[in-house]
Amino acid sequence: MVDGKKLTAVLLQIGYKMTEEKEYLTRLDAAIGDSDHGINMARGFEAVEKKLPALADKDIGSILKTVGMTLVSTVGGASGPLYGSAFMKAGAAMTGKEDMDLSDFLEAMRTGVEAVQMRGRAGAGEKTMLDSMLPAMDAMEAEAAGNAQIQAVLKAGVIAAWDGVEGTKDMIATKGRASYLGERSVGHQDPGATSFAYMLETIASMF
Ligand code: ADP
Ligand code: MG
Ligand code: MG
Repeated sequence: MVDGKKLTAVLLQIGYKMTEEKEYLTRLDAAIGDSDHGINMARGFEAVEKKLPALADKDIGSILKTVGMTLVSTVGGASGPLYGSAFMKAGAAMTGKEDMDLSDFLEAMRTGVEAVQMRGRAGAGEKTMLDSMLPAMDAMEAEAAGNAQIQAVLKAGVIAAWDGVEGTKDMIATKGRASYLGERSVGHQDPGATSFAYMLETIASMF
């Protein structure tokens, strides 16, 4: 069970991870974008960090919605509205819940991923964050169907997310800034897919 206290602790760790990987994510974005993905993510989660102390005793839905709104207003770029809507929609799906069990967690995550798909009008294979999100979701749901242990579910998700990240190297970008490069985007790893894999890896490290 994940309550508000646990969720805010996880969000704090995600923020630390984004700051830790800020330069790496920015370097990935230098190759196929505008060299700011790590900076954007670290800035957004630093703003989230400031709000966390006041959020720990709120319900799951309110916490996730506040995180989403904070990301939208501080991250900027493509990733701000995308990660922002993911958290806002996930929060809306968790309205009024004081804690999340495994099926709530998967529902929140799936709702967030669908929000990214809608907002970015993108699908699998377009060299975006969805290329780690979608395989990770599929793997977690498949694992959860046979094994209700959150650790096993998250582990399966993390493996699939990193496989997905690796897969972005062979893809031609058709969405976002990297699409301006067309075939020249091939050979480079997508920054947004990478930040999501770090996010999930951080969540998994806390269970
Ligand atoms: P910007 O490209 O505006 O500078 P960021 O560098 O922070 O924003 O984020 C870039 C990442 O956003 C990409 O690596 C990709 O994963 C993701 N992205 C861009 N456009 C889309 C989209 N339409 N759908 C899903 N993800 C996208
Ligand atoms: Mg960028
Ligand atoms: Mg930018």
